[in-house]
Amino acid sequence: MLIVKKFGGSSVANRERIFNVARRCIEDYKKGNDIVVVLSAMGDTTDELLELARSINPNAPKRELDMLLTTGEQVSVSLMAMAMHEMDIPAISLNAFQVRMHSTARYGNARFKRIDTDRIFHELEERKIVIVTGFQAVNKYDDYATLGRGGSDTTAVALAAALHADKCEIYTDVDGVYTADPRIVKNARKIDEIMYDEMLELATSGAKVLHNRSVEMAKKYGVELVVRSSLTSEEGTVVKEVVKMEKMLITGVAADRNTARISAMGVADKPGIAFKIFNTLAKRNINVDIILQSVGRDGTKDISFTVSEDDLKETLQILEEKKEALTIKEVTYNTNVSKVSIVGAGMLSNPGVAAKMFESLFNSNININMISTSEIRITVLIDEKDTDKAMVAIHDGFGLND
Ligand code: ADP
Ligand code: ASP
Ligand code: MG
Repeated sequence: MLIVKKFGGSSVANRERIFNVARRCIEDYKKGNDIVVVLSAMGDTTDELLELARSINPNAPKRELDMLLTTGEQVSVSLMAMAMHEMDIPAISLNAFQVRMHSTARYGNARFKRIDTDRIFHELEERKIVIVTGFQAVNKYDDYATLGRGGSDTTAVALAAALHADKCEIYTDVDGVYTADPRIVKNARKIDEIMYDEMLELATSGAKVLHNRSVEMAKKYGVELVVRSSLTSEEGTVVKEVVKMEKMLITGVAADRNTARISAMGVADKPGIAFKIFNTLAKRNINVDIILQSVGRDGTKDISFTVSEDDLKETLQILEEKKEALTIKEVTYNTNVSKVSIVGAGMLSNPGVAAKMFESLFNSNININMISTSEIRITVLIDEKDTDKAMVAIHDGFGLND
Protein backbone atom coordinates (compact mmCIF):
# COMPACT_ATOMS: atom_id res chain seq x y z
CA MET A 1 0.00 0.00 0.00
CA LEU A 2 1.07 3.58 -0.61
CA ILE A 3 0.28 5.72 2.42
CA VAL A 4 0.57 9.53 2.67
CA LYS A 5 0.93 10.66 6.28
CA LYS A 6 0.83 14.32 7.23
CA PHE A 7 1.98 15.62 10.61
CA GLY A 8 1.24 19.16 11.80
CA GLY A 9 3.51 21.55 13.64
CA SER A 10 2.75 20.40 17.17
CA SER A 11 3.40 16.78 16.16
CA VAL A 12 7.02 17.63 15.26
CA ALA A 13 7.56 20.42 17.81
CA ASN A 14 10.67 18.95 19.46
CA ARG A 15 13.23 16.14 19.32
CA GLU A 16 11.08 13.66 21.20
CA ARG A 17 8.07 14.26 18.95
CA ILE A 18 10.18 14.00 15.81
CA PHE A 19 11.31 10.54 16.93
CA ASN A 20 7.72 9.67 17.82
CA VAL A 21 6.63 10.51 14.26
CA ALA A 22 9.60 8.64 12.81
CA ARG A 23 8.60 5.54 14.80
CA ARG A 24 4.99 5.70 13.62
CA CYS A 25 6.08 5.97 9.99
CA ILE A 26 8.65 3.20 10.31
CA GLU A 27 6.04 0.87 11.82
CA ASP A 28 3.98 1.03 8.60
CA TYR A 29 7.11 0.99 6.42
CA LYS A 30 8.24 -2.28 8.00
CA LYS A 31 4.92 -3.87 7.09
CA GLY A 32 5.99 -3.43 3.46
CA ASN A 33 4.09 -0.21 2.68
CA ASP A 34 5.40 2.72 0.67
CA ILE A 35 5.43 5.78 2.91
CA VAL A 36 5.28 9.44 1.89
CA VAL A 37 5.40 11.84 4.84
CA VAL A 38 4.31 15.49 4.65
CA LEU A 39 5.45 17.79 7.44
CA SER A 40 4.63 21.29 8.68
CA ALA A 41 7.12 23.60 10.34
CA MET A 42 8.03 22.73 13.94
CA GLY A 43 5.69 24.09 16.64
CA ASP A 44 5.06 27.82 16.26
CA THR A 45 7.88 28.35 13.76
CA THR A 46 5.66 29.92 11.07
CA ASP A 47 4.24 32.46 13.55
CA GLU A 48 7.73 33.25 14.82
CA LEU A 49 9.05 33.78 11.32
CA LEU A 50 6.15 36.11 10.54
CA GLU A 51 6.87 38.05 13.72
CA LEU A 52 10.53 38.31 12.76
CA ALA A 53 9.58 39.56 9.31
CA ARG A 54 7.27 42.18 10.82
CA SER A 55 10.06 43.45 13.07
CA ILE A 56 12.15 44.13 9.96
CA ASN A 57 9.44 45.39 7.64
CA PRO A 58 5.71 45.48 8.43
CA ASN A 59 4.97 45.70 4.70
CA ALA A 60 7.40 43.06 3.51
CA PRO A 61 6.98 41.95 -0.13
CA LYS A 62 4.90 38.77 -0.26
CA ARG A 63 7.56 37.04 -2.33
CA GLU A 64 10.13 37.53 0.40
CA LEU A 65 7.68 36.41 3.08
CA ASP A 66 7.22 33.13 1.21
CA MET A 67 10.97 32.79 0.79
CA LEU A 68 11.22 33.06 4.58
CA LEU A 69 8.24 30.90 5.57
CA THR A 70 9.24 27.97 3.39
CA THR A 71 12.39 27.53 5.48
CA GLY A 72 10.24 26.29 8.38
CA GLU A 73 9.10 23.17 6.55
CA GLN A 74 12.58 22.51 5.23
CA VAL A 75 13.90 22.31 8.80
CA SER A 76 11.26 19.70 9.72
CA VAL A 77 11.79 17.41 6.74
CA SER A 78 15.57 17.34 6.97
CA LEU A 79 15.51 16.64 10.72
CA MET A 80 12.94 13.88 10.16
CA ALA A 81 15.15 12.23 7.56
CA MET A 82 18.06 12.43 10.02
CA ALA A 83 15.93 10.83 12.74
CA MET A 84 15.03 7.95 10.44
CA HIS A 85 18.65 7.45 9.42
CA GLU A 86 19.52 7.40 13.12
CA MET A 87 17.05 4.50 13.34
CA ASP A 88 18.74 2.79 10.37
CA ILE A 89 15.90 3.41 7.96
CA PRO A 90 16.61 4.83 4.48
CA ALA A 91 14.79 8.15 4.13
CA ILE A 92 15.08 11.23 1.96
CA SER A 93 13.70 14.73 2.42
CA LEU A 94 12.47 16.72 -0.58
CA ASN A 95 11.25 20.30 -0.92
CA ALA A 96 8.77 21.67 -3.46
CA PHE A 97 11.54 22.36 -5.97
CA GLN A 98 12.94 18.87 -5.79
CA VAL A 99 9.56 17.17 -6.18
CA ARG A 100 8.32 19.94 -8.39
CA MET A 101 5.00 20.88 -7.03
CA HIS A 102 3.70 23.52 -9.44
CA SER A 103 1.28 26.23 -8.34
CA THR A 104 -0.44 29.40 -9.44
CA ALA A 105 1.59 32.59 -9.15
CA ARG A 106 0.00 34.16 -6.08
CA TYR A 107 2.41 34.46 -3.15
CA GLY A 108 0.93 33.63 0.23
CA ASN A 109 -2.15 32.03 -1.27
CA ALA A 110 -1.06 29.81 -4.15
CA ARG A 111 -3.04 26.85 -5.45
CA PHE A 112 -1.57 23.63 -6.78
CA LYS A 113 -1.71 23.17 -10.53
CA ARG A 114 0.24 19.98 -11.00
CA ILE A 115 2.64 17.73 -9.14
CA ASP A 116 5.46 15.79 -10.80
CA THR A 117 5.60 12.27 -9.41
CA ASP A 118 8.77 10.81 -11.02
CA ARG A 119 11.21 11.73 -8.28
CA ILE A 120 8.96 10.46 -5.48
CA PHE A 121 8.21 7.17 -7.25
CA HIS A 122 11.90 6.73 -7.97
CA GLU A 123 12.80 7.16 -4.28
CA LEU A 124 9.97 4.84 -3.20
CA GLU A 125 11.24 2.17 -5.58
CA GLU A 126 14.55 2.36 -3.76
CA ARG A 127 12.55 1.56 -0.59
CA LYS A 128 13.10 4.98 0.93
CA ILE A 129 10.63 6.79 3.11
CA VAL A 130 10.02 10.07 1.27
CA ILE A 131 9.55 13.16 3.44
CA VAL A 132 8.08 16.19 1.68
CA THR A 133 7.75 19.82 2.80
CA GLY A 134 4.12 20.86 3.30
CA PHE A 135 2.69 24.34 2.62
CA GLN A 136 4.98 25.24 -0.30
CA ALA A 137 4.96 25.07 -4.08
CA VAL A 138 6.85 26.56 -7.01
CA ASN A 139 5.18 29.13 -9.26
CA LYS A 140 5.81 30.11 -12.89
CA TYR A 141 8.58 32.53 -11.87
CA ASP A 142 10.47 29.62 -10.29
CA ASP A 143 9.77 31.17 -6.90
CA TYR A 144 8.43 29.60 -3.78
CA ALA A 145 4.77 30.35 -3.15
CA THR A 146 2.98 29.22 0.01
CA LEU A 147 -0.54 27.82 0.09
CA GLY A 148 -2.05 29.89 2.92
CA ARG A 149 -1.95 29.16 6.65
CA GLY A 150 -2.62 25.53 7.43
CA GLY A 151 -1.78 24.59 3.83
CA SER A 152 0.25 21.45 4.62
CA ASP A 153 -3.01 19.48 4.75
CA THR A 154 -3.53 20.45 1.12
CA THR A 155 -0.03 19.29 0.20
CA ALA A 156 -0.85 15.89 1.68
CA VAL A 157 -4.13 15.54 -0.22
CA ALA A 158 -2.60 16.80 -3.47
CA LEU A 159 0.21 14.24 -3.17
CA ALA A 160 -2.24 11.47 -2.29
CA ALA A 161 -4.24 12.32 -5.42
CA ALA A 162 -1.20 12.63 -7.69
CA LEU A 163 0.41 9.41 -6.44
CA HIS A 164 -2.92 7.53 -6.33
CA ALA A 165 -2.21 6.69 -2.70
CA ASP A 166 -4.27 4.05 -0.96
CA LYS A 167 -4.55 6.09 2.23
CA CYS A 168 -4.18 9.71 3.31
CA GLU A 169 -3.79 10.19 7.04
CA ILE A 170 -3.74 13.61 8.68
CA TYR A 171 -2.12 13.39 12.12
CA THR A 172 -2.66 16.30 14.48
CA ASP A 173 -2.91 17.25 18.17
CA VAL A 174 -6.56 16.17 18.58
CA ASP A 175 -7.83 12.67 17.86
CA GLY A 176 -10.29 13.60 15.15
CA VAL A 177 -12.87 16.08 13.95
CA TYR A 178 -15.19 17.12 16.79
CA THR A 179 -18.65 18.67 16.85
CA ALA A 180 -16.83 21.90 17.85
CA ASP A 181 -13.27 22.91 18.72
CA PRO A 182 -12.68 20.70 21.79
CA ARG A 183 -10.47 23.39 23.31
CA ILE A 184 -13.44 25.75 23.49
CA VAL A 185 -16.42 23.44 23.86
CA LYS A 186 -15.27 21.00 26.52
CA ASN A 187 -18.04 18.47 25.96
CA ALA A 188 -17.65 18.40 22.16
CA ARG A 189 -18.00 14.91 20.71
CA LYS A 190 -15.73 13.17 18.23
CA ILE A 191 -17.39 12.48 14.86
CA ASP A 192 -16.68 9.02 13.40
CA GLU A 193 -17.45 9.89 9.79
CA ILE A 194 -18.20 13.19 8.07
CA MET A 195 -19.16 14.07 4.49
CA TYR A 196 -16.81 16.17 2.35
CA ASP A 197 -19.43 18.90 1.97
CA GLU A 198 -19.97 19.27 5.70
CA MET A 199 -16.25 19.17 6.43
CA LEU A 200 -15.65 21.78 3.75
CA GLU A 201 -18.21 24.15 5.29
CA LEU A 202 -16.77 23.58 8.78
CA ALA A 203 -13.21 24.19 7.60
CA THR A 204 -14.23 27.30 5.67
CA SER A 205 -16.13 28.54 8.74
CA GLY A 206 -13.03 28.40 10.94
CA ALA A 207 -12.61 24.78 12.16
CA LYS A 208 -8.92 24.81 11.37
CA VAL A 209 -8.44 21.09 12.02
CA LEU A 210 -8.31 20.79 8.19
CA HIS A 211 -7.30 23.41 5.62
CA ASN A 212 -10.44 24.06 3.55
CA ARG A 213 -8.62 23.60 0.23
CA SER A 214 -7.51 20.15 1.34
CA VAL A 215 -11.14 19.12 1.73
CA GLU A 216 -12.10 20.69 -1.58
CA MET A 217 -9.34 18.73 -3.28
CA ALA A 218 -10.14 15.49 -1.43
CA LYS A 219 -13.72 15.73 -2.70
CA LYS A 220 -12.64 16.53 -6.24
CA TYR A 221 -10.26 13.57 -6.48
CA GLY A 222 -12.15 11.20 -4.17
CA VAL A 223 -9.33 10.99 -1.62
CA GLU A 224 -10.67 9.53 1.60
CA LEU A 225 -9.07 11.27 4.60
CA VAL A 226 -8.49 10.07 8.12
CA VAL A 227 -7.89 12.71 10.79
CA ARG A 228 -6.26 11.28 13.90
CA SER A 229 -3.87 11.97 16.76
CA SER A 230 -0.10 11.68 16.40
CA LEU A 231 0.16 10.87 20.10
CA THR A 232 -2.51 8.20 20.63
CA SER A 233 -3.75 5.24 18.62
CA GLU A 234 -7.43 6.30 18.74
CA GLU A 235 -9.44 5.60 15.58
CA GLY A 236 -9.91 9.16 14.31
CA THR A 237 -12.46 10.64 11.89
CA VAL A 238 -13.00 9.53 8.29
CA VAL A 239 -13.84 12.28 5.79
CA LYS A 240 -15.59 10.89 2.69
CA GLU A 241 -18.46 11.24 0.24
CA VAL A 242 -21.15 9.04 1.79
CA VAL A 243 -21.41 8.48 5.52
CA LYS A 244 -23.59 6.55 7.93
CA MET A 245 -26.42 8.94 8.64
CA GLU A 246 -26.67 10.10 12.21
CA LYS A 247 -29.96 11.51 13.38
CA MET A 248 -28.47 14.89 14.20
CA LEU A 249 -30.02 18.13 12.98
CA ILE A 250 -26.58 19.64 12.65
CA THR A 251 -23.09 18.16 12.57
CA GLY A 252 -20.91 20.83 14.07
CA VAL A 253 -20.26 24.39 15.18
CA ALA A 254 -17.29 26.52 14.09
CA ALA A 255 -16.04 30.03 14.75
CA ASP A 256 -13.84 32.44 12.83
CA ARG A 257 -12.40 35.38 14.75
CA ASN A 258 -10.21 36.51 11.87
CA THR A 259 -12.96 38.61 10.38
CA ALA A 260 -13.74 42.31 9.99
CA ARG A 261 -16.93 44.17 9.17
CA ILE A 262 -16.78 47.11 6.79
CA SER A 263 -19.61 49.53 6.10
CA ALA A 264 -19.82 51.79 3.08
CA MET A 265 -22.16 54.51 4.31
CA GLY A 266 -24.41 56.81 2.33
CA VAL A 267 -23.89 55.29 -1.12
CA ALA A 268 -26.30 56.27 -3.88
CA ASP A 269 -29.53 54.24 -3.83
CA LYS A 270 -29.51 53.39 -7.53
CA PRO A 271 -28.80 50.37 -9.72
CA GLY A 272 -25.18 49.30 -10.19
CA ILE A 273 -23.61 50.52 -6.96
CA ALA A 274 -23.34 47.10 -5.29
CA PHE A 275 -21.98 45.71 -8.55
CA LYS A 276 -19.32 48.43 -8.72
CA ILE A 277 -18.20 48.02 -5.11
CA PHE A 278 -17.92 44.24 -5.18
CA ASN A 279 -16.52 44.09 -8.68
CA THR A 280 -13.75 46.49 -7.67
CA LEU A 281 -12.89 44.29 -4.69
CA ALA A 282 -13.12 41.06 -6.68
CA LYS A 283 -10.68 42.39 -9.27
CA ARG A 284 -8.17 42.88 -6.47
CA ASN A 285 -8.76 39.33 -5.21
CA ILE A 286 -10.54 40.39 -2.02
CA ASN A 287 -12.94 37.73 -0.84
CA VAL A 288 -16.15 39.27 0.47
CA ASP A 289 -18.33 37.28 2.78
CA ILE A 290 -21.62 38.23 4.46
CA ILE A 291 -23.31 41.19 2.77
CA LEU A 292 -26.04 43.33 4.22
CA GLN A 293 -27.71 46.31 2.58
CA SER A 294 -29.88 48.76 4.48
CA VAL A 295 -33.19 50.04 3.12
CA GLY A 296 -32.72 53.24 1.21
CA ARG A 297 -33.61 56.62 2.68
CA ASP A 298 -33.21 60.09 1.13
CA GLY A 299 -31.68 58.52 -1.97
CA THR A 300 -28.88 56.78 -0.09
CA LYS A 301 -28.26 53.44 1.60
CA ASP A 302 -25.51 51.67 3.56
CA ILE A 303 -23.79 48.48 2.43
CA SER A 304 -21.99 46.37 5.04
CA PHE A 305 -19.91 43.27 4.41
CA THR A 306 -17.22 41.16 6.02
CA VAL A 307 -13.71 40.33 4.84
CA SER A 308 -10.87 38.39 6.40
CA GLU A 309 -8.86 40.60 8.78
CA ASP A 310 -5.83 39.91 6.60
CA ASP A 311 -7.55 41.77 3.75
CA LEU A 312 -8.85 44.68 5.85
CA LYS A 313 -6.04 47.13 5.20
CA GLU A 314 -6.11 46.60 1.45
CA THR A 315 -9.92 46.75 1.31
CA LEU A 316 -10.01 50.08 3.17
CA GLN A 317 -7.31 51.41 0.88
CA ILE A 318 -9.24 50.42 -2.26
CA LEU A 319 -12.50 51.92 -0.99
CA GLU A 320 -10.69 55.13 -0.06
CA GLU A 321 -9.10 55.36 -3.53
CA LYS A 322 -12.43 54.79 -5.28
CA LYS A 323 -14.61 56.65 -2.80
CA GLU A 324 -16.02 59.11 -5.32
CA ALA A 325 -16.63 56.68 -8.15
CA LEU A 326 -18.41 54.36 -5.73
CA THR A 327 -20.44 57.29 -4.26
CA ILE A 328 -19.34 56.37 -0.72
CA LYS A 329 -19.74 59.14 1.90
CA GLU A 330 -17.94 57.39 4.72
CA VAL A 331 -16.30 54.04 5.43
CA THR A 332 -16.40 52.51 8.90
CA TYR A 333 -15.05 49.19 10.11
CA ASN A 334 -14.95 46.93 13.13
CA THR A 335 -12.49 44.12 13.81
CA ASN A 336 -14.05 43.08 17.13
CA VAL A 337 -16.47 40.74 15.42
CA SER A 338 -16.48 37.03 14.73
CA LYS A 339 -18.48 34.58 12.69
CA VAL A 340 -20.12 31.60 14.33
CA SER A 341 -21.54 28.92 12.04
CA ILE A 342 -23.53 25.75 12.31
CA VAL A 343 -23.14 23.11 9.62
CA GLY A 344 -25.15 20.04 8.79
CA ALA A 345 -26.80 18.29 5.86
CA GLY A 346 -29.66 17.64 8.32
CA MET A 347 -30.87 21.22 7.94
CA LEU A 348 -31.87 20.57 4.32
CA SER A 349 -34.92 18.62 5.41
CA ASN A 350 -35.63 20.23 8.76
CA PRO A 351 -37.23 23.63 9.03
CA GLY A 352 -36.59 25.57 12.21
CA VAL A 353 -32.85 25.01 12.44
CA ALA A 354 -32.09 28.72 12.10
CA ALA A 355 -34.73 29.57 14.70
CA LYS A 356 -33.15 27.11 17.11
CA MET A 357 -29.74 28.67 16.62
CA PHE A 358 -31.09 32.16 17.20
CA GLU A 359 -32.95 30.96 20.28
CA SER A 360 -29.73 29.59 21.77
CA LEU A 361 -28.05 32.96 21.20
CA PHE A 362 -31.04 34.84 22.63
CA ASN A 363 -31.00 32.67 25.76
CA SER A 364 -27.37 33.69 26.28
CA ASN A 365 -28.17 37.33 25.59
CA ILE A 366 -25.95 37.46 22.49
CA ASN A 367 -26.83 39.98 19.80
CA ILE A 368 -26.68 39.06 16.10
CA ASN A 369 -25.22 41.67 13.74
CA MET A 370 -25.51 39.90 10.42
CA ILE A 371 -26.74 36.54 9.11
CA SER A 372 -25.84 34.48 6.06
CA THR A 373 -26.79 30.99 4.95
CA SER A 374 -25.90 28.32 2.45
CA GLU A 375 -27.77 25.05 1.88
CA ILE A 376 -26.07 23.33 4.78
CA ARG A 377 -24.69 26.24 6.84
CA ILE A 378 -25.99 29.17 8.86
CA THR A 379 -23.55 31.89 9.93
CA VAL A 380 -24.07 34.79 12.31
CA LEU A 381 -21.79 37.73 12.90
CA ILE A 382 -21.50 38.60 16.58
CA ASP A 383 -19.25 40.55 18.98
CA GLU A 384 -15.91 38.80 19.18
CA LYS A 385 -16.01 38.70 22.98
CA ASP A 386 -19.13 36.51 22.84
CA THR A 387 -17.57 33.87 20.57
CA ASP A 388 -16.85 31.10 23.06
CA LYS A 389 -20.11 31.65 24.91
CA ALA A 390 -22.02 31.47 21.63
CA MET A 391 -20.33 28.24 20.56
CA VAL A 392 -21.11 26.56 23.86
CA ALA A 393 -24.70 27.84 23.86
CA ILE A 394 -25.40 26.63 20.32
CA HIS A 395 -23.63 23.30 20.88
CA ASP A 396 -25.76 22.69 23.99
CA GLY A 397 -28.91 24.04 22.33
CA PHE A 398 -28.70 21.40 19.59
CA GLY A 399 -27.75 18.68 22.08
CA LEU A 400 -24.57 17.88 20.18
CA ASN A 401 -22.89 16.44 23.26
CA ASP A 402 -25.61 13.80 23.82
P1 ADP B 1 -1.82 20.92 12.84
O1 ADP B 1 -0.69 21.76 13.32
O2 ADP B 1 -1.66 19.48 13.18
O3 ADP B 1 -2.16 21.15 11.41
P2 ADP B 1 -3.99 22.66 13.66
O4 ADP B 1 -3.67 23.49 14.85
O5 ADP B 1 -3.92 23.28 12.33
O6 ADP B 1 -3.07 21.35 13.72
O7 ADP B 1 -5.43 21.99 13.82
C1 ADP B 1 -5.77 21.27 14.98
C2 ADP B 1 -6.56 22.15 15.92
O8 ADP B 1 -7.81 22.45 15.33
C3 ADP B 1 -6.94 21.48 17.23
O9 ADP B 1 -5.92 21.65 18.18
C4 ADP B 1 -8.24 22.16 17.62
O10 ADP B 1 -8.05 23.11 18.64
C5 ADP B 1 -8.65 22.89 16.36
N1 ADP B 1 -10.06 22.63 15.98
C6 ADP B 1 -10.94 23.58 15.58
N2 ADP B 1 -12.12 23.05 15.32
C7 ADP B 1 -12.01 21.72 15.50
C8 ADP B 1 -12.92 20.62 15.37
N3 ADP B 1 -14.19 20.78 14.97
N4 ADP B 1 -12.46 19.38 15.65
C9 ADP B 1 -11.18 19.21 16.03
N5 ADP B 1 -10.29 20.20 16.19
C10 ADP B 1 -10.69 21.45 15.93
N1 ASP C 1 3.42 25.88 8.75
C1 ASP C 1 2.29 26.38 8.03
C2 ASP C 1 1.38 27.19 8.96
O1 ASP C 1 1.68 27.31 10.14
C3 ASP C 1 1.51 25.32 7.30
C4 ASP C 1 0.78 24.32 8.16
O2 ASP C 1 0.98 24.27 9.36
O3 ASP C 1 -0.04 23.58 7.60
O4 ASP C 1 0.40 27.72 8.53
MG1 MG D 1 -3.27 22.66 10.43
